[in-house]
Amino acid sequence: MRRILVLQCEQEISSFNPVPTEYESFSIAMGEALIEANRQADTCVRGALDVLGARSDVTVVPVYGAKAPSGGVLRADAFRRIKGDLLAALREHAQGADGLYFSLHGAMGAEGELDPEGHLLEAARGILGPDVPIVTSLDLHGILTARMLRNMTATAVYHTYPHEDFIDTGARAARLLLRIIDTGARPVMARVKVPALVRGPELFTKSGCYGEIIRNAKRLEANVALAAAMLIGNPFTDVPELCSQSLVITDGDVDAAKREALAMAVGFWRQRERMRAPLVSLDGAIEAAKTATAPVTFTDAADAPSSGASGDSNAILKGLLQRGYPGRVLMPIVDAPAVERAHAAGVGARLQLAIGGSLDPERFPPLPVEVRVAMLGEGRWRHEVNGLMANAGRTAVLEADNITLIVISRPVHLMDRGVFLAHGHDPRDFDLIVIKSPGAYSRFFTFAEENFVVDVPGATSANLPLLGHKVCARPMFPLDPDVVFEPEVEVYPA
Ligand SMILES: [Zn+2]
Repeated sequence: MRRILVLQCEQEISSFNPVPTEYESFSIAMGEALIEANRQADTCVRGALDVLGARSDVTVVPVYGAKAPSGGVLRADAFRRIKGDLLAALREHAQGADGLYFSLHGAMGAEGELDPEGHLLEAARGILGPDVPIVTSLDLHGILTARMLRNMTATAVYHTYPHEDFIDTGARAARLLLRIIDTGARPVMARVKVPALVRGPELFTKSGCYGEIIRNAKRLEANVALAAAMLIGNPFTDVPELCSQSLVITDGDVDAAKREALAMAVGFWRQRERMRAPLVSLDGAIEAAKTATAPVTFTDAADAPSSGASGDSNAILKGLLQRGYPGRVLMPIVDAPAVERAHAAGVGARLQLAIGGSLDPERFPPLPVEVRVAMLGEGRWRHEVNGLMANAGRTAVLEADNITLIVISRPVHLMDRGVFLAHGHDPRDFDLIVIKSPGAYSRFFTFAEENFVVDVPGATSANLPLLGHKVCARPMFPLDPDVVFEPEVEVYPA
């Protein structure tokens, strides 16, 4: 029997979100609970479990899982606790292990440790020794560091954006791990770092130029490569190794890995100008919306909790009120104090509230709005995008004339229609819907006549030069002018 261990530690952060992530944000699952948490879910762990569980000669050992919604930088004490528990659990099960599958996101960041994934992989390698294969799965927004590459055997990376292949990626990672164990495959990983941060609709893999690069990576996987990926990093995770990078993994063929990684990186760099988000001014978008004949969406990618933002931006609300937009508006916002006031007052009450900026008041000064409490909720619904339960804290539906606010207490993923439907509102019944996610409009709001990606402030603004990166390597496109790319291939193991 093969003993395969399963670990998970996943979070994505924005360094520009002023609210740190606490330990309590993580869902922790140990042992069988890790299997239970993923059995029905659209996750990498589920995909890996499906593949491993189908093998009669494999004993799956679920060890420890920690997963949190995106947010600000992880508190030092929270990372210390997660690390301690994860490694203690790993030590307990390490004896006789034939392999480790480790589900990572790749864009974590903690106070005092800007490469948490590298830290964990190095420690895991230390416990398991040099000969036990460690295969990870990663988000294409992950930031693969040299320390991660030194301490893993191979990895599988998402091939879709907006992400639809969590299960498939976990399954690919598990198959790769089994291949290494069964056939003695010797992965060599070649990567080329590209000094570019990218954003915008050309990244949509179904329709954009980035999709062409990913399809090429998949072609490589079908013949010469064990795995291939073009990672773009999370541009909001301001860590030393933030960049885009190609990665090609072959079975011992160093030359092929280097050649293909180089070609992919050069092809990506050529397309960089296309991979900038075309942003519309808020005033321009509101004027256009006034003349629309069918529903339109405003994408507030700058305040996307799924990318690590605080979710409490009132910038669009303020613009709509100031410019007297007359249509029916539906928008979500994080504002725990407003929710508490609404719960205290009860359904039907009229209140004068200061909306927004409860977490990031410097960016979003609270906005006085008179509202009627239309509904109160408990913040539990199933995310359409991945089947997982939302845990948004208490909620309230507040109506301000033509504007319906779905107010939640915690920043949870708002990547689909779940938050609206759970509060009795179908977005199709509105003229203007605000979406706090960069890509959701292309998947769940296709009924809209037009989508405007508005240029408003936020911790995940696609207007990257305005964010104020301080840590990542420079020069970096598009943060700096006239960036030169001198491709250099790194090979792991060295
Ligand atoms: Zn991602």
